Amino acid sequence: MSDKTITRFAPSPTGWIHVGNLRTALMNYLIARKAGGEFILRIDDTDPNRSKEEYVDGIKRDLEWLGIHWDRVERQSLRLEKYHAAAQELRDMDRFYEAFETPTELDLKRKKQLNMGKPPVYDRAALALSDDEKAALRAERGDGVWRFKLKHERIVWNDGILGDVSIDGASVSDPVLIRGDGQILYTLASVVDDTEMGVTHVVRGSDHVTNTGTQIQIMQALGGTVPSFAHHSLLTGPQGEALSKRLGTLALKDLREAGIAPQALLSLMSRLGSSDPVELRTEMDALIEGFDISRFGSAPTKFDAEDLKPLTAKYLQTLDVADVADAVAALGVPDDLATQFWNVTRDNITTLHDLGPWWTMFANGAEPVIDDEDRDFVAQAMTLLPDAPFDGDTWGAWTSAVKEATGRKGKGLFMPLRKALTGQAHGPDMSAVMPLLQVVKARG
Ligand code: GLU
Repeated sequence: MSDKTITRFAPSPTGWIHVGNLRTALMNYLIARKAGGEFILRIDDTDPNRSKEEYVDGIKRDLEWLGIHWDRVERQSLRLEKYHAAAQELRDMDRFYEAFETPTELDLKRKKQLNMGKPPVYDRAALALSDDEKAALRAERGDGVWRFKLKHERIVWNDGILGDVSIDGASVSDPVLIRGDGQILYTLASVVDDTEMGVTHVVRGSDHVTNTGTQIQIMQALGGTVPSFAHHSLLTGPQGEALSKRLGTLALKDLREAGIAPQALLSLMSRLGSSDPVELRTEMDALIEGFDISRFGSAPTKFDAEDLKPLTAKYLQTLDVADVADAVAALGVPDDLATQFWNVTRDNITTLHDLGPWWTMFANGAEPVIDDEDRDFVAQAMTLLPDAPFDGDTWGAWTSAVKEATGRKGKGLFMPLRKALTGQAHGPDMSAVMPLLQVVKARG
């Protein structure tokens, strides 16, 4: 085997991918890129009923949006004969056996074991079946499932995040690798792929730890090289609550539609749960450079989607008008006002979606806010305001004239005028706002 680093992201296309998947994808991607290696997008679509092309496309679109580029795509549904060949090898070496228990029977066995204080591990009853008994069961129930016969010895590996892991083979049920309907399960397919594709590092969620134990034994049985494994912690909500139910609402596609910047998402997810601080990184190269899997801890990691907003805002502040030209033009901002518009708004938005209301306000005028005690003052000031279009000097010249005419100064002068023109007590510098303001509703 060459010493080239090869990683893969292996989603099942049975739904939209979410922040938890992104964590897995990103870690594998960063490891490959940092090592100058290869990153494979592997579509785990051996389940024809649940896999959908729509989700395959969605996964690609999400990764492209984030700038996570894969070197090639593999699809498990196109590799079925390889999995069947591996299954045959396992049969030939007596590590694979057919079992016929129904789900109800298995459930009953588990309950009995638990009642007796025993771990609910499959009892291997099927190993005792004679050929005649199997034929009879097959005639009655159809084909059985195929289980891999684990060796009852300790399975150990040095995990890139968890450190030394040791699993007792006897404490795990012999995994089903082929279902009764002939469907190859991921556990086998993944081993065949990782071996054949020379995958050197596998990073995935800690829900796969037991899987890893069984997959190491299958790899060894098939003569493959066991890759380095690392299992990252699972994400929880901000209060430590399980995120699994809410993950649907944290689909990458929804975050994109909400205006979250990819740079914000990548900056957060490449550091969250590690001992390195979360910092905005606008370039992928910086993320690659600053990534170190050994800095990640095994404790559950709190994720708060709200954290993506300040990072997005910070990212937008780094952009020039040319970077947002399409978004600005789409609002109908005239070309000659685009730069001014962006300079005024970029420090006052969280996402690009916030630009729309700003332009509406500038183009149509804001509903004035005028306190009772300022009514006469504002009316008088409006008579001194020249007609639009305004320019960068309008505010200064106008407020000087109003000051002269009314004797007001400081906050008492500026605040009522700002509120009358923008409807808000706070906001960008009024000298910069004036050239954008097309309509002044307070003028009556
Ligand atoms: N398709 C599997 C999953 O999404 C892949 C796990 C792995 O990375 O091996 O859970």
